[in-house]
Amino acid sequence: MDASLLAFLEEMLEAPSPSGYEKPMQDVVRKFAGSFADDIRTDWHGNVMACVNPGGTPRIMLDGHSDQIGLLVKHIDDKGYIRVSPIGGWDPQMLIGQKLKIWTADGPISGIIARKAIHLLTDDERKKVPEIKDLWIDIGAADGEEVRRLVRIGDPVTLELGMTTLRNGLACAAAMDDKVGVWVVFTALQAIAKANPEASVYAVAAVQEEIGLRGTKTAAFSIDPHLGIAVDVTHATDCPTIDENQYGRVKVGQGPVVFRGPNINPVMFNQLHDIARDREIPIQINGISVAAANDGNALQVNRAGVATGIIGIPNRYMHSPVEVISLKDIENASRLISEFCLTVTRESDFTP
Ligand SMILES: [Zn+2]
Repeated sequence: MDASLLAFLEEMLEAPSPSGYEKPMQDVVRKFAGSFADDIRTDWHGNVMACVNPGGTPRIMLDGHSDQIGLLVKHIDDKGYIRVSPIGGWDPQMLIGQKLKIWTADGPISGIIARKAIHLLTDDERKKVPEIKDLWIDIGAADGEEVRRLVRIGDPVTLELGMTTLRNGLACAAAMDDKVGVWVVFTALQAIAKANPEASVYAVAAVQEEIGLRGTKTAAFSIDPHLGIAVDVTHATDCPTIDENQYGRVKVGQGPVVFRGPNINPVMFNQLHDIARDREIPIQINGISVAAANDGNALQVNRAGVATGIIGIPNRYMHSPVEVISLKDIENASRLISEFCLTVTRESDFTP
């Protein structure tokens, strides 16, 4: 991967962005898009929208979500322990034993979540799955007064951020979901900017997906696209204990997943499929039989309806501190999307 594009990914993965607190991440995206977009704006919801060829027809909206799951400071007790509420869908077991950062107005403070040692757990406690309400953050404070001087109710919390590379071009980090999607749509837009698109193409870093696809609703309303592609992570099924019969066959490193199903425009699926075949871009195909649990859902039913595609980046261990993706898969997703956008003309017809 090109060094500047790898740096863009690493910078995003180091920028905290729990839903509602995406600004550090959005600043990274704005800086990246500033070098090639014809127009960039941030709306009052927080969505960053960059456009190449404004005024072109039709309008295409490429969507990745900038928010990550996190925690929110709910209560500080008198002993100095911090209680939290989840932002987005957590498996509480993923939190135990983790190092965290509380993002205060004066900068990050390190904290940890654990529980009492195994020697002290009763037989019943050992069998029970803890809930977030049973957990606390310890920053090493002497008492509640000390914490209250540093941390405010409502401050966001993330896991330790930053990327670790693994073998075979794989990498892991907290919040690959969905910083890789933002990476894909903005690097695709950069490639489109170097060509001569007939369409007007927008890349959006949408806020608040993890709490209900909320940024895409507002961004799509303002852009009013004819076509849209949502890029998010999707479950890889190539590690032990996942049933391919139920979830399909999806492997990390075998190409982005191009989805089919009612949430996807069939003409767009066919075009994405044919472009991948003709340009020798590896893809995998999977089906979604319901309204998708990602921004592609909000995109499709915007206003009078949008021809929508959904592209998934295969991801092991989603919503964990160690979400694994393949750098090759995101490069291939970016290339597939830019090639697709460059084939769209004002004569294109996506009537199913
Ligand atoms: Zn996501």
